[in-house]
Formats: sequence, C-alpha cells, structure tokens
Amino acid sequence: MRPLFDKRGQAAVGLIGILVSVAILLLVLRYFIFPVGNTSSVGTNLPEESMKRGEGVVCMQNLRSIRQSIEAWKVSNDGENPPSLDQLSEYKSTPEIFKCAVGGEAYTYDAQTGSVKCPHPGHGNY
Ligand SMILES: [Zn+2]
Repeated sequence: MRPLFDKRGQAAVGLIGILVSVAILLLVLRYFIFPVGNTSSVGTNLPEESMKRGEGVVCMQNLRSIRQSIEAWKVSNDGENPPSLDQLSEYKSTPEIFKCAVGGEAYTYDAQTGSVKCPHPGHGNY
C-alpha cells in the first residue's frame, strides 16, 4: 500500500499548518488589539437594520393572525366579511396588533374584499 504522504508531502502539510496557525494568530491579535477600529469599519447601523427586519416580522405575524381571524369570522357569519376590524373581539386586550410594529400606522381594512394591509413603506406585500 502506498503511503498517503511522502516526506515532501508531510513537509508541505506541516508548512500549511504553520501558515494557518500564523494567519489565525494574526486575526486574533488584530481583533483584540484593534477592536474599536474593527467594529466601526464593519458598519454601525447593522444592529439597527436587523432590528427593523425583526419588527417587520412582527408586522407580518400581526397581519397573518388578523387574516386568520377574518377567515374564522367568515366561517361563523355565512361567509360575510367582518364590517370592521373591531369585530375581531379576540384582540380586545391586544389592540396593538392592528398597528404596524415598525411605523405604528393603523392597518387598512377593506370590508368589501376582507383584505387587511399595512400602509408602512415596504410592507404592502406583507
Ligand atoms: Zn408594517
């Protein structure tokens, strides 16, 4: 059986190992010695943006929940749409569900079509 590495191969593998170790060491040193420069160059508004996205998810969940309630209302009301979102009595204790979690705009409801939408920019397709 042929050995996996000859003497030269072993030397090359060893050299790569040393290079990788040095690279990791440099990265670690850079991270610990220049933590301030490092974080500011990455971008300061990253947490803010991911927070916005998280609130967008809440908006999406609100709308999904309201739509399910509208469907439930229709089932028990001969397929009629609720005349207003106030009819969805299960949200009496959580009125904030009828507002966008990002902008705080009240959701628009069309009793004709039974569709509920968020007027916040970018939330039109939620
Ligand atoms: Zn929204």
